[in-house]
Amino acid sequence: MNPLNALAATDPALVHMIAAEEARQFYTAKLIPSENYASSAVMEATGTVLTNKYSEGYAFKRYYEGQQFIDQIESLAIDRAKALFGADHANVQPYSGSPANLAVYTGLIPKGSDNQRILGLGLPAGGHLTHGWKVSATSRFFQAAQYGVDPVTHLLDYSAIAAQALEFRPAVLICGATAYPRIIDFAKFAEIAHACGALLVADMAHIAGLVAGGAHPSPVPHADAVTTTTHKTLRGPRGGMILCKSQHAAAIDRAVFPGLQGGPHNHTTAGIAVALKEAATPEFRAYAHQIVANSRALAATLQSEGLPLATGGSDNHLILFDATALNATGKQAAQAMDLAGLEANFNSIPFDTRSPFDPSGVRIGTPSLTSRGLKEAEMAHVGKWIAQAIRGREDAAVLARVRGEVFDLMAQFPPPGFEQPYPARP
Ligand SMILES: *Cc1c(COP(=O)(O)O)cnc(C)c1O
Repeated sequence: MNPLNALAATDPALVHMIAAEEARQFYTAKLIPSENYASSAVMEATGTVLTNKYSEGYAFKRYYEGQQFIDQIESLAIDRAKALFGADHANVQPYSGSPANLAVYTGLIPKGSDNQRILGLGLPAGGHLTHGWKVSATSRFFQAAQYGVDPVTHLLDYSAIAAQALEFRPAVLICGATAYPRIIDFAKFAEIAHACGALLVADMAHIAGLVAGGAHPSPVPHADAVTTTTHKTLRGPRGGMILCKSQHAAAIDRAVFPGLQGGPHNHTTAGIAVALKEAATPEFRAYAHQIVANSRALAATLQSEGLPLATGGSDNHLILFDATALNATGKQAAQAMDLAGLEANFNSIPFDTRSPFDPSGVRIGTPSLTSRGLKEAEMAHVGKWIAQAIRGREDAAVLARVRGEVFDLMAQFPPPGFEQPYPARP
């Protein structure tokens, strides 16, 4: 990693905080499924003079002079996005995943149209806030309703969704999730959208890297527009991206700028271009498939430790388990895991009877550990440590022992983006 010499001279207090975070990231087992480690190449691109430039508008149609190189950089990112995902059109300017979603609804739903309805997966069932959940501005600007998952299997029930869509008649049907451990059938969603006259938006924020690497079916052939973050399984810098069919390109571009944003973050665009190049390699394909293999292995270990899983397993990068089976709430389990060096987040399970502030579940995933090179054999250890931490949540000696073992293993698998000398053990 960059030795931060200039920063150390200007702001030593900040460098101290960053160094502590570096050590934390290096030694903890990051199980948060939406996080990853950007490569050194991606981080170098984001730390360049590109941050100095205003570029409102799009390549060759800007509102500021001096764009000859920025136009090349943005065009490179766009061309790589289109090639990697087989899309007609790409917009790489959204500041992140949430603004990308708002931009797509704004672009696809004409101002003043009678139908301002959006239908997405509810938050408690694994949907994202920006799919029209009540506290999100997406439900303030659009008339939102939510579908759920099957109460018994926790799987998407496509016939129930179809019935609800026919009744609600949304202008935009949204598919994609933030806590769904199975394959999403985008072709079925497209059928449902067509049957009710809606446009289909697929939000692949969590699974973009799996899609790029061929480890999850692509929504691109089926959806009118596809949104994504660039920093989750895609392993780029923090950012957002929209892919769409040609007929929606102009409306979506206008919604991003000037509709919702000002100048694009050119240093992020450069980092996205690098990540897209990396994601087009055979190594990344292998990475994407290993994420899923690791998730299956970890799921099997957790089940053998007596932890029930939402949907009964995992076909992607993500696992949602019910901690109450080990006599802990989701929050207690996540806190115990944190003390044991296992970083996760508490999460509602479908039809959770507990409050969202202390739900029954914990959400974990394998993208980060897979980036570090861990495989199925190590997943068995991780699964056992999770169970030991939850069972031993009141036993400081158990938590300290697990933490030591986690740190030892992590030290053997340095993450991308960290260069020697590695941080000292905290
Ligand atoms: C993470 C996520 C987003 C939002 O991304 P931010 O970059 O955090 O704004 C949107 N949709 C889904 C499904 C996500 O998982």
